[in-house]
Amino acid sequence: MALLEVRDLTTHFSTDDGVVRAVDGVSFEVEKGKTLAIVGESGSGKSVTCLTIMGLNTGKVQTSGEALFDGTDLILLPKRELREYRGKRISMIFQDPMTSLNPVHSIGRQLREAVTLHEGATKAQANSRALEMLRAVRIPRAETRLDDYPHQFSGGMRQRVMIAMALINNPDLLIADEPTTALDVTTQAQILRLMNELQRDFGSAIILITHDLGVVAETADDVLVMYAAKPAEQGACDDVFYRPHHPYTWGLMRSLPHLTAVGAELNPIPGTPPSLLNPPSGCRFHVRCPYAMEICRTVEPPLEPAPGDSHHLAACHLEEAVKQREAEQIVSEMMADTA
Ligand code: SF4
Repeated sequence: MALLEVRDLTTHFSTDDGVVRAVDGVSFEVEKGKTLAIVGESGSGKSVTCLTIMGLNTGKVQTSGEALFDGTDLILLPKRELREYRGKRISMIFQDPMTSLNPVHSIGRQLREAVTLHEGATKAQANSRALEMLRAVRIPRAETRLDDYPHQFSGGMRQRVMIAMALINNPDLLIADEPTTALDVTTQAQILRLMNELQRDFGSAIILITHDLGVVAETADDVLVMYAAKPAEQGACDDVFYRPHHPYTWGLMRSLPHLTAVGAELNPIPGTPPSLLNPPSGCRFHVRCPYAMEICRTVEPPLEPAPGDSHHLAACHLEEAVKQREAEQIVSEMMADTA
């Protein structure tokens, strides 16, 4: 059984302007010790999906569907019980550590509090665990840094501290929301490598939220590509990378910097994601899709398995032969570029 099974999740917010359908029918599973990447542009619903699972949405929100964590539906759980899960069995890391770290308390105090809060440890035990975690995330001279404050660490080091805090209670599931976006490329690679290593050591499952398909390739076992609150494509990472079946995924792949010659302009997907107050009819991507047909404007494409692979799903009306031809073209462009 998967550690987390999300079934037909929807999250709608009532606003003065109308109902925002932020998540509209998303299903996925996360296995123990594996990484699922949720990919998409801003406003695609990837962060709201995870905030819904964690019970952290604010405002007038309506949720339906299931999020079975070890068999317990988190959506139905009373807030008090859900708080027990957060921090102990499920942790989150955000893009900007300063939103989670308290600037007026030392790192050591914040780490110790995280342990004491959830495990009832003594101060000495909490201190030793805090130090152990700072070492695990490779903070140099960790024993001398416990009394330092967040502003005394660089951006990359602060993100390491956040990872230490998130893993300090050995959570079963770590949700990382754009954990490396604010970092330079070198630090980003170090943090991703560190997360992979810690996942091996701690055995946590990870949901990685990102807009960067390059990050997915480095880290994920499975991938869910979201567009305008809905799944566009999902499956094992290798399948989605080597047999991409959706024009939106093709667009994301073509916009990867390494597919573009040095000095040339990037190849972003033209246009912007639609408003979720009043999303387009039919396929939500049709306004930006270079392959759009008449049917795409009126009929929503179902999420269907690729031939011969029941775990690789895509929502697109294109004929299979066209999908295969385009997938081969994109993969050969990638291969040529990395050769
Ligand atoms: Fe493009 Fe139509 Fe496929 Fe949507 S259904 S991605 S508009 S071809």
